[in-house]
Amino acid sequence: MIDISQKEVWFITGSQHLYGPETLEQVAKNSSEIVEALNASQQIPVKVVFKPTVKTTEEIYETLTAANQEANCIGIITWMHTFSPAKMWIRGLTALQKPLCHLHTQFNRDIPWDSIDMDFMNLNQAAHGDREFGFIVSRLRKNRKVVVGHWSQESVQKKIGDWTRVAAGWDDWQGAKFARFGDNMRFVAVTDGDKVEAETKFGFSVNTYAVGDLVEVINGVSDQAIAELVKEYESSYNMVDSLLEGGEFRQSLIEAARIELGLEKFLVDGGFKGFTDTFEDLHGMVQLPGIAVQRLMQKGYSFAGEGDWKTAALVRAMKVMGAGLEGGNAFMEDYTYHLDPKEPRILGSHMLEVDPVLAASRPSCEVHPLGIGGKADPVRLVFNGRAGDSLVAGLMDFGNRFRLLINKTVGEEVKEALPKLPVARIMWKPLPDFETACTAWILGGGAHHTCYSENVSVEQLEDFAEIAGIESLVIDEHTTIRDFKNTIHTNEAYYR
Ligand code: MN
Repeated sequence: MIDISQKEVWFITGSQHLYGPETLEQVAKNSSEIVEALNASQQIPVKVVFKPTVKTTEEIYETLTAANQEANCIGIITWMHTFSPAKMWIRGLTALQKPLCHLHTQFNRDIPWDSIDMDFMNLNQAAHGDREFGFIVSRLRKNRKVVVGHWSQESVQKKIGDWTRVAAGWDDWQGAKFARFGDNMRFVAVTDGDKVEAETKFGFSVNTYAVGDLVEVINGVSDQAIAELVKEYESSYNMVDSLLEGGEFRQSLIEAARIELGLEKFLVDGGFKGFTDTFEDLHGMVQLPGIAVQRLMQKGYSFAGEGDWKTAALVRAMKVMGAGLEGGNAFMEDYTYHLDPKEPRILGSHMLEVDPVLAASRPSCEVHPLGIGGKADPVRLVFNGRAGDSLVAGLMDFGNRFRLLINKTVGEEVKEALPKLPVARIMWKPLPDFETACTAWILGGGAHHTCYSENVSVEQLEDFAEIAGIESLVIDEHTTIRDFKNTIHTNEAYYR
């Protein structure tokens, strides 16, 4: 399971020596009170670490480069309680490599109408101090999050918390390793892309491993470990009769457990956060990994099918962003449509690998033949998705840039029994409506593979794209095709 609670964001207050020691003492006291409140907030999933007020070019540079160096620090929050002449920030901000959130707040919420004097005015200066700071960040062309409002407000704390989740997703990518068994599915365009550019831009690496290397690990799994895992299957899922002891396909279940244990060992030993495979390259494997991939995804490893390393990486980052929240983030494919003009819907699924984090109820463990890959019948978990607000996000390589395409969706309860469908199924309606959403998705070059999310917001993904320095396009309740096309055309010029 993914745990981000030990990660840190540094809270850095800017000022200058002009105010004298008494005021600066008050500034530090007030800042630490804000930090305490943020740490007490249920909305913020990481530690907020108070840092001494920075008052000179040197102090700023030292603090920001220390943030770069501290492995546990996933980003910094800055606030100008008083005025902090921003030329002092140029050197530090230029060197800063961690995500930046500018909290535009004020220590005193209300103006004390009867007692306000120049002392109050000179202490509560964020209204102009933060504008001076904002100028230099813009002047340096640095992307950052700006959060506005009183620090005690729940909605402000939520915005900060949401941003820390984004920063945690970004942090997780830095130095992350994704294993690719085999290459891309032959001839497929959208799942392919520039892995060198991705590593430069995103910080994670994708490298290939022969499926034979994996098979060797799978074959080394002990019978005892398999027996234990089979027991776990039996206690966790509704098993179909043919998979029970003495059942016709009992051996398939044993092979599935062997594959899961081997795959997990391979991932643990190699320090991988996710992986991809392709049914065109499974030499030596008895069946296509189904339940193995499903359960590993539920544990926090990410996966995408057919060699799709970009989606695998995106799913991982989004799993980190949603860590500990209700709902899930999962590899998804737009599979089939229900084109009833009154109620068009998208049925999302995959051949086997649908993440049980999306299961509305206890999955059933089944075995069915697979008409693709030419292997033995694979075991898989079958379940329905949940109703509720959601989104899909796809990451594509456009040659001169990566594009993150996001579509707001509404998950729907699956009411039909679908007795002959041997895979998990998720149902949703895209916003603003089926026709506009699908038109925009196609015009935006959106992939058929996505990450389906029940707990990451559009705003978080936009912030993520800004940290990465890539394009983001949103399809939501406000989208019109005319505006969407214009945005694409404008962006072509912007990224040229
Ligand atoms: Mn696929």
